[in-house]
Amino acid sequence: MRKSIVAIVGRPNVGKSTIFNRLVGERISIVEDIPGVTRDRIYAEAEWLNTPFNIIDTGGIELGDEPLLVQMREQAEVAIHESDVIIFMVNGREGITAADEEVAKLLYKSNKPIVLAVNKIDNPNMKEQIYEFYSLGFGEPFPISGTHSLGLGDLLDDVVKHFPNREQEDKDEDTIYFSLIGRPNVGKSSLVNALLNEERVIVSNIAGTTRDAIDTPFKSGDQDFVIIDTAGMRKRGKIYEKTEKYSILRALKAIERSDVVLTLIDAEEGIIEQDKKIAGYAHEAGKAVIIVVNKWDTINQHDKAIKEFEEQIRAHFLFLDYAPIVFLSAQTRKRIHTLIPQVITASENHVKRIETNILNDVIMDALAVNPAPSKHGKKLKVLYATQVSVKPPTFVVFVNDPELMHFSYVRFLENKIREAFGFEGTPIKIFPRKRN
Ligand code: GDP
Ligand code: GDP
Repeated sequence: MRKSIVAIVGRPNVGKSTIFNRLVGERISIVEDIPGVTRDRIYAEAEWLNTPFNIIDTGGIELGDEPLLVQMREQAEVAIHESDVIIFMVNGREGITAADEEVAKLLYKSNKPIVLAVNKIDNPNMKEQIYEFYSLGFGEPFPISGTHSLGLGDLLDDVVKHFPNREQEDKDEDTIYFSLIGRPNVGKSSLVNALLNEERVIVSNIAGTTRDAIDTPFKSGDQDFVIIDTAGMRKRGKIYEKTEKYSILRALKAIERSDVVLTLIDAEEGIIEQDKKIAGYAHEAGKAVIIVVNKWDTINQHDKAIKEFEEQIRAHFLFLDYAPIVFLSAQTRKRIHTLIPQVITASENHVKRIETNILNDVIMDALAVNPAPSKHGKKLKVLYATQVSVKPPTFVVFVNDPELMHFSYVRFLENKIREAFGFEGTPIKIFPRKRN
């Protein structure tokens, strides 16, 4: 089920990013080896009452040199477009300002639920300061303090009440949902068009689960697919759509709804830092990943060309060692037909389940080859393992003491599991858990 999205909107300095960080807490995870991925986050997962949701700090979307008013307008538009519920934040110490009224005007026109948060109410004596905010017309103002973490529970209680009922939106389990991500001009729209042409089966453009996303369903053989639209594919030309953070935001939303993510690289331009950052998001989300090297027609096709490019990719994308690499040209359509079979394989592996007894045969063989390590004279004992979930395949390994299960040993077990069962195209997760 798609997670609901909450956006925080308000003029600068009311405390949006402070609250964002509070709500996200320690959930911001770190992707190994990818500098910059988690810096300046404006989109992250949070949770309240066992309901996970995604949250956007619109204040983090910068629009170059645009005047403040334009920036605020664009940020509010992003919130209106992208979210299910908007937290409109004001500063309780300063009262209503002209800028607050500007933001309010834009929000009146949206038909999204809006929850008014009055921040910087650092102690209960200050609560009277919230009453003037009733005049903004968004109902009851919620007093909060980002600095002291006050009032956030009441605020979130109200926010989650407004989440849409997603039961009818559930995806069809037999359909493979995929998206194409990559920096601007890497060839995402060209490849979508080439794919659809190849398959000769554009069914129709149907409105997706989010109002402005266009999902394209098609069939190849007996398999149903849906391509999820990503940033850069529909160029509406708004200022905010040209900003990097906004396109990342759209990519993240598409990734979220995908089973398989095709991460594109431009053969002509080579690999740049931004490619790694974008691919990192797909990995981090636990999706199946295929690396697609597009514009292969521009490369001198000598014998070793593919091998050399592959080595470069492996060196740059250490965290994606499970992802197959496909070389193709959206323009000449060369090798386009090799892509869909890879998408199917990756998707199958993403939902593959291994029976516990077969899994444990492999684990026991692995232990015999490379006995569990010890630390400070204490020896790791691996008792048994079991697969607890799919999308991505996730394993729990029961051990005497999880502290003794070093990262390198997890990695070793992962390699053994991959050797035995494949899992090409999908990340797998392994968690040690204590059992005496
Ligand atoms: P943003 O521009 O809306 O994202 O605002 P920031 O989160 O950067 O906060 C602006 C300033 O307000 C910072 O100096 C924060 O430390 C301060 N601030 C944020 N929340 C509170 C609060 O609850 N009480 C007080 N007194 N200051 C706060
Ligand atoms: P997007 O921004 O990622 O959607 O990229 P586009 O699909 O708009 O493509 C950007 C540019 O790259 C366009 O000028 C395309 O014609 C060109 N292009 C796309 N695929 C290929 C390819 O396989 N080979 C070559 N030579 N050019 C391509």
